[in-house]
Amino acid sequence: MSKTLRLILGDQLNSNHSWFQTVDDSVTYVLMEIRSETDYATHHIQKITAFFAAMRNFANELKSKKHQVIYLHLNDADNLQTFDKNIQYLIDKHQFTNFEYQLPDEFRLDELLKNFCKTLSIPTKTFDSEHFMSSRNELGAFFEGKKTFLMESFYHKMRKKHNVLMQGDKPLTGKWNYDGDNRKKLPKNHKPTSPLVFDNDVSKIVSEINKTDIKTIGTIDATNFVWPINRSQSLELLDFFVRECLSLFGSYQDAMTPNEWSLYHSRISFSMNIKMISPQEVIEKAIEEWKNRPDEIEYNQLEGFVRQIIGWREYMRGIYWYKMPEFATMNYFDNQEKLPDWFWTGKTKMNCLKDAISQSLKFAYAHHIQRLMITGNFALLAGVHPDEVDAWYLGIYIDAIEWVEITNTRGMSQFADGGIVGTKPYVSSASYIDKMSHYCGSCFYKKAVKTGDKACPLNSLYWNFYDKNEDKLGKNPRIGMMYNVWRKMQPEAKAELLQQADYYLKNINDL
Ligand code: FAD
Ligand code: SF4
Repeated sequence: MSKTLRLILGDQLNSNHSWFQTVDDSVTYVLMEIRSETDYATHHIQKITAFFAAMRNFANELKSKKHQVIYLHLNDADNLQTFDKNIQYLIDKHQFTNFEYQLPDEFRLDELLKNFCKTLSIPTKTFDSEHFMSSRNELGAFFEGKKTFLMESFYHKMRKKHNVLMQGDKPLTGKWNYDGDNRKKLPKNHKPTSPLVFDNDVSKIVSEINKTDIKTIGTIDATNFVWPINRSQSLELLDFFVRECLSLFGSYQDAMTPNEWSLYHSRISFSMNIKMISPQEVIEKAIEEWKNRPDEIEYNQLEGFVRQIIGWREYMRGIYWYKMPEFATMNYFDNQEKLPDWFWTGKTKMNCLKDAISQSLKFAYAHHIQRLMITGNFALLAGVHPDEVDAWYLGIYIDAIEWVEITNTRGMSQFADGGIVGTKPYVSSASYIDKMSHYCGSCFYKKAVKTGDKACPLNSLYWNFYDKNEDKLGKNPRIGMMYNVWRKMQPEAKAELLQQADYYLKNINDL
């Protein structure tokens, strides 16, 4: 009799997958909590906990629907702690005649399972994960032979392909992009909507993790765990977002303010990345809400959100599969420094960095512009090695899975890919941060001061970055203006700025 073992990875919790639409007694599903996954990066305690909690809930859901499930807990005596060893053990023990899995989103696991299958003597088969709106190789085929990989062109293709906000082959309103109407600073005294948080009790999982020597970062409130850990909570969060936040999403998507950790962001990246909800249902829900409340939700808010989901998210996945494994070794500026120690404590006098890092340690979350223009900006200006930066981002964020972490970090934020994802590096001095946030007013450093006592470190580091990388960036037309300013500066002023940057870099742990 044929007996099939099907592997479900921790980020494949898609209850709508065709696998689960019929109950088949000859099929057994396996989910496993293993050390190879907890230890490939130093993860935030909330990230490991959220994955395990969601996996356990998913396994219970399958069991309640009468599917056969094997669940290996972290500390089970017969857990061999790697995918290949556990699968081999289960095949031998239960005499499975077939092994099947869904294509992983990570290159590391894709290679591992491909190679492992070659060693098996039983037939194996792969399935699509039925989650994304583009296939693994669609972006590569779309940009084949092109020198640039513009997200905007791929986004248009996705809108057309899925007939999202379209009228025939033209955008619904005649315009593709509403970025110009978005990205405002929060008005002073504006109180953002309080985020919907859950109060899950995950203390059992945390105590199981604490019994091991798994290294983690950050903190957790294990009896009031704020993140969604099943599909119904994920849908509740999505519902909350479209009801309470969508109407201001675009306007304030780049805004930052102290002690407000999520503003009008959706916080659905974890739910989506582990496939508890799909990008298709997310945009359908947002579009439906906009149709129901046309007087309250302006089109630019909706378009800004749809662009993130079927534009940026699908684009990053496409770039990942087009450019891996080389992408993971790129270091365009040949940066070699280490991250300062305060990236793990938040103990810095720089208000913007203190806020972004402290909330990341507390919630395993920072919104996009904090990741890009605060922590990412600092790491690039300080010349930190992209491996270090990647490891930090991969560990600290609850939604960090390599396909979307590395393309954003090494690509968009660190420009280590030399311009595949972005056309210029995202760097800024205090002026951009002050324009988009309320951090500078209460900072130890002075935003308008470039050198000397209390000068904002970002100001001198910014010019130091352009000076140091002139051979690589000097001819980039998108930053020509900055080089014109730099070249026209008096030699003494330049020397002072570079000296100040040098001092800060030498004393980076004291900033
Ligand atoms: P919202 O602001 O509400 O946006 C809605 C959704 O759009 C997100 O949930 C996400 O799925 C998608 N999205 C938005 N921007 C991007 C983007 N640039 N790339 C891909 N999807 C996007 N996202 C991750 O999911 N995992 C990561 O590990 C990750 N690492 C990042 C590292 C850096 C340095 C930067 C600059 C960005 C990173 N992002 C990552 C992208 C983005 O910051 C997060 O998706 C977003 O902050 C998640 O919060 P949210 O759900 O509230 O997003
Ligand atoms: Fe950040 Fe500089 Fe503003 Fe302080 S002054 S909050 S360090 S940008």
